[in-house]
Amino acid sequence: MSGTAPAAPLNAMSIDVEDWFQVQNYAGLIPRARWDSLPRRVEERTREVLDLFARAGIRATFFTLGWVAERHPGLIRDIVAAGHELASHGYGHERVFEIGADRFREDIRRAKHLLEQAGGVAVTGYRAPTFSVNPTATPWAHAVLAEAGYRYSSSIFPGPRAGGPVPLQPWRPHPDGVVELPMTALRLGPACLPVSGGGPFRATPHPLFAALLRRVNAEGRRGIFYFHPWEIDPDQPRVPGLSATKRLRHFLGLRRMAPRLARLLGDFAWAPVEAVFAPELAAPAPARAA
Ligand SMILES: [Zn+2]
Repeated sequence: MSGTAPAAPLNAMSIDVEDWFQVQNYAGLIPRARWDSLPRRVEERTREVLDLFARAGIRATFFTLGWVAERHPGLIRDIVAAGHELASHGYGHERVFEIGADRFREDIRRAKHLLEQAGGVAVTGYRAPTFSVNPTATPWAHAVLAEAGYRYSSSIFPGPRAGGPVPLQPWRPHPDGVVELPMTALRLGPACLPVSGGGPFRATPHPLFAALLRRVNAEGRRGIFYFHPWEIDPDQPRVPGLSATKRLRHFLGLRRMAPRLARLLGDFAWAPVEAVFAPELAAPAPARAA
């Protein structure tokens, strides 16, 4: 019908592109200095993700490490050529609250430069490693992102990791900073339930997860889902010395993950973060109070 704008897509699909040995779970077991001596699996797994998205006919946002772009520029080119949004996961997967503002500035600039060199497109979205940004621990992060040329962050995980109560809707944690598009959660009484992917997705039966995401949408909110290439890699190397809890968190449900993702892709309408949140990204930053 003329005069009617098409409905905005409801939910954003995203993937954090990093290798199996870069997860925080292994931080105490695999020193950074060893990364280059380990067998890399990220390119093959990410190509499987590209195939999965192509079969489902969806486009997504790839929050990619600068470290990966430096070693796999061909993969970055193919992500862009397939029509996906290329975004930044920082350079070296260091937790933001541990490195401080100056090293954070270096890390996100280096990642943006490497990704843009490889992909040939502007990179304006950012996701912090392990959602290590929040208003209490890193009050400067969103301003530093704006200064470095980013437009949005999708780095705050409502719940205990956020360091206190935070909005579930897009918001500006810093008056001069980029907009934050928080990971999806549902408030159920005093609890804040994640509805956004990763380990909790693998641990939740599919119909229940789908019902929770429908409830988010019924509240008028758009969801953001995320996963990692290593989550569809049940045959990745086992690292001796990992505690039972961490082993469970890392390996739970990996064999079922690819078929479950295919089902999730079919159950909802998905688009890249920048498309789903286009209205928020188009809005100018509010003027700083005098
Ligand atoms: Zn990560």
